[in-house]
Amino acid sequence: MEFALAGAKSTAIFCKRPPLPIPVKILIVEDQRRLGQFLKKGLAEHAYTATWVQSCREARDALCETGYDVIILDLGLPDGDGLALLQEWRKGGFNEPVLILSARDSVQDRIKGLDLGADDYLAKPFSFEELLARVRSLLRRQSAAKDTVLEHRHVRMDLLGRTVTLGGAAVELTSREFALLEIFLQNPGRILTRTLISEKIWESHYDVDTNLLDVYMSKLRGKLDLDPAKPLFKTVRGVGYQLL
Ligand code: CA
Repeated sequence: MEFALAGAKSTAIFCKRPPLPIPVKILIVEDQRRLGQFLKKGLAEHAYTATWVQSCREARDALCETGYDVIILDLGLPDGDGLALLQEWRKGGFNEPVLILSARDSVQDRIKGLDLGADDYLAKPFSFEELLARVRSLLRRQSAAKDTVLEHRHVRMDLLGRTVTLGGAAVELTSREFALLEIFLQNPGRILTRTLISEKIWESHYDVDTNLLDVYMSKLRGKLDLDPAKPLFKTVRGVGYQLL
């Protein structure tokens, strides 16, 4: 409580609100004792709340118990392979950012790790400063992904409220139209291929008649384009669509 009051005082002086001290939780999965202890201590010194576990089983339990902001994952673990664990998590819908920290450092190893769902890969031996920078980078990406309001020109999407407004006026979208618009708002100006869009909206895009995408795009245009001279979307022939 005293700490909070001291913080309030400095707020008055600088007229700037300090960020709330939210503890960032990091799970370290590492069976090498000295390295595990070193990581836990080093991360704690940088104000992270670090939990250290030494096996796949303990890591599974830890993740079932609570969420983490970043997971640092070793691959060679006594009761299994970190890659299999990662795969299991991704299949189970655990989307915590994972940084693989491994002595396996060939290009093939890295590709495999990233393809199986890791967000970053750092080879041992490593510099602790670099590990910290990579953790910060993962945290930044995550907080950007947590933006709950997307805005572009006259369109505003509230991801939490599931509402869309056009120049302040509410517009009704179906859930598919909403998902489709969200992809564009997340990638303004980028040409999004038909495959990419279909994969995100329908998941198994192989079964989807691609004309369906055009039907949805046309519905979206009908609802969102206020001025035919200034369209919101551009059709890129043979490729996909772009939010202008
Ligand atoms: Ca190991």
